[in-house]
Amino acid sequence: MRTMAVIGAGQMGSGIAQVSAQAGLKVLLSDISLELAEKAKDKIAKGYAKLVERGKVDAVLAASTLDNLIPVGDYARLPEAELVIEAATEREDIKHKIFKAAGEFLAPTAIMATNTSSIPITRMAVSSPDAARFIGIHFFNPVPLMKLVEVIPGLATSESTIMTVRDYAAAIGKEVVLSQDEPGFIVNRIFVPFINEAAFVLGSGTGSVVDIDKGVKLGLNHPMGPLELADFIGLDTLLEIMKIYLASTGDPKYRPAPLLQKYVEAGWYGRKTGRGFYDYSGETPVPTR
Ligand code: NAD
Repeated sequence: MRTMAVIGAGQMGSGIAQVSAQAGLKVLLSDISLELAEKAKDKIAKGYAKLVERGKVDAVLAASTLDNLIPVGDYARLPEAELVIEAATEREDIKHKIFKAAGEFLAPTAIMATNTSSIPITRMAVSSPDAARFIGIHFFNPVPLMKLVEVIPGLATSESTIMTVRDYAAAIGKEVVLSQDEPGFIVNRIFVPFINEAAFVLGSGTGSVVDIDKGVKLGLNHPMGPLELADFIGLDTLLEIMKIYLASTGDPKYRPAPLLQKYVEAGWYGRKTGRGFYDYSGETPVPTR
């Protein structure tokens, strides 16, 4: 593979573009405007400037990576791409529109992939030109640091598509786990209910915020406690994910913790609103319970 495209240059798309360009692929990076794609490249360039300054990345590698990153304002060059990864906003209507519009330009053997966290792959494949060449590639945040990608074939995805995507993942230095197209795939299906359970434990008064986080960090050797992590991710996002699991499985084990719902109703979404399980208004986070 020589050339790929990333559609959506936010947190995830920028990271995917960066690791791919660093592995030597030419990456066409787009967003809703050329300006946003260029801004994303500037941000990546600033990140590399710091890494080079600290001696963490070789200057030649940084320069060649940036050379490989090509911001584009439309899909005119998309036929050059052998793999297109969509990493736009997590809204199904937006994604369907992208697959239809970009699909018009997709080369006849190219693969179209989505980095969705929660929308079924099989359902999105219908908007792409060929469901056999459509697949989920779920990266983890921050992309340059996290080793894993989940590969999720839809019902019609071909074996050769899976093989090509496995090769791509290996080429950019990622490990692969293969997941069926079920809500949450593998990792989030385990991880999000785990955080939800921590909110149940807090709500039932079993432990304080500090003791729940300390218990999980020291007892399970996790780098972060579930409640501080929940504040990082956003309680609104976690609640939405639990609701999706509950709606798509009908299984009451996925019911959102009442405390999580209450905090979201109060506008306490975590770090992004200044308050969640911790209060972020001061110098250091203060537990709220
Ligand atoms: P983000 O908000 O940082 O970036 C989304 C980008 O998509 C924005 O730059 C936005 O301008 C752009 N966009 C919106 N509509 C577009 C369109 N029509 N065409 C092109 N670009 C468009 O979001 P993110 O966190 O990078 O998430 C992107 C995707 O990755 C989502 O599907 C999300 O579920 C998934 N994901 C996120 C994480 C995470 O931890 N944030 C982890 C794994 C997967």
